[in-house]
Amino acid sequence: MGKVVYIDTDECIGCESCCEIAPEVFQFDQGSGKAQVYNPDGAPEDKIQEAIDTCPVQCIHWED
Ligand code: SF4
Repeated sequence: MGKVVYIDTDECIGCESCCEIAPEVFQFDQGSGKAQVYNPDGAPEDKIQEAIDTCPVQCIHWED
């Protein structure tokens, strides 16, 4: 098993940037107004890393 991505939803501001970069992994949850991890294996690591790097509040993390 590799590392698994997760969102600290307390910090998420719902900008949807991660959902646009990797929609296979992150989806916007209308109910909470925040992003959620839909499928952690939905995209290659570098794509997920790109989403992590562009999150304006840096609330997406890897869990080993
Ligand atoms: S990029 Fe960050 S702040 Fe924006 S929706 Fe995704 S997790 Fe939330």
